[in-house]
Amino acid sequence: MSEVAAAFRELYGSEPDGVWAAPGRVNLIGEYTDFNEGFVMPLALPHTAVAAVARRADGVLRIHSADIEGPLVELRIDELEPLSGAGWAAYPAGVAWALRQAGHEVTGADIHLTSTVPTGAGLSSSAALEVVTGLALRDVFQLPLSMEELASLAQKAENSFVGVPCGIMDQTASACCTEGHVLHLDARDLTRRQIPFDLPAHGLRLLVVDTRVKHALGDGAYAERRAGCERGARELGVRTLREVEFAQLQYVLGQLSSLPTVRDYVRHVVSDNERVERVAALLAAGDVRGVGPVLTEGHASLRDDLRVSCAELDLVVETAVAAGALGARMTGGGFGGSAIVLVEEAELGPVTKALVTAFEGAGLTRPRVFEAVPSEGARRVG
Ligand code: ADP
Ligand code: MG
Repeated sequence: MSEVAAAFRELYGSEPDGVWAAPGRVNLIGEYTDFNEGFVMPLALPHTAVAAVARRADGVLRIHSADIEGPLVELRIDELEPLSGAGWAAYPAGVAWALRQAGHEVTGADIHLTSTVPTGAGLSSSAALEVVTGLALRDVFQLPLSMEELASLAQKAENSFVGVPCGIMDQTASACCTEGHVLHLDARDLTRRQIPFDLPAHGLRLLVVDTRVKHALGDGAYAERRAGCERGARELGVRTLREVEFAQLQYVLGQLSSLPTVRDYVRHVVSDNERVERVAALLAAGDVRGVGPVLTEGHASLRDDLRVSCAELDLVVETAVAAGALGARMTGGGFGGSAIVLVEEAELGPVTKALVTAFEGAGLTRPRVFEAVPSEGARRVG
């Protein structure tokens, strides 16, 4: 962390007020459910965005990323405009904007950041950037904000300033996860429950397999799925699909008059909410191995009903399960990015090898495989 402070000193010629870190996340189960006010269950990764920040009183906002070529970005904090196309700097700038919109006094800052969260891999490098900026600004300006409120302002930055219509999961995961736990989040009222997730104690591991592909289809498809879910809710006369009980699913599907795609989206959302609850019950009962098949079932739903998977993600899941994994599924928005694999410790080597061989055989870039160790959420580190 001190390297980040040293880089700040070199760049700005002064001391930062502090150094903060916020993690990327991986979602265990509950996909495309948060914007339907449903359940999700992410965990924070050890990979973090780290920011050294100093407050300014003169209305100037300077932002620099060690990971991006080019000069630092300098903006007037009172001239920040949503959707103004500031590139990567829109993420941190958007957080300053959202704080000011909410009435908080933020009078400028120097920000230097760097991140170990892989970008565009479905691991929420964007939320890590937003949350680390929000936490740093909260602390240097001594703003009375909870982690939950910070997450919500970070989401507002991404939705309204950057222009990405994401739900609340990513920012809440980065802000509120705790070491050794998955976070059970109810996106309707933001109720949070930390559930112990000590896989090594059970002789298990969770792998993240980053396919290193990102298909262009993804952005429009997210908005289309979202619109389809909203249409389904409207037709059923409920505010959101969260209102639909799993036990009513078959009946409800028969009530829908609209397109088959809408019916499929409803089936995915309602059944994935139930899968989150099933995983929570399995973890509470200590049946961690039982989680595996639920993951694979969730993947089939994302592939066949929501249709947000792709050949590379399907290849990870099929290969991993065939090689002896307990279960696997794509995670995040899909159309590339990452999958997760639940595996017996003893099967770690063979499953990883099978994945590498399968990707090689298909002429694909070697995937990046690493262990998902449930880590701490955002915090001050220096
Ligand atoms: P994801 O959140 O899944 O990684 P996104 O497309 O939502 O993917 O966010 C990735 C974007 O976030 C990058 O294109 C870049 O604009 C910004 N970003 C992430 N990490 C950094 C970084 N270390 N420095 C600068 N910008 C970053
Ligand atoms: Mg993102």
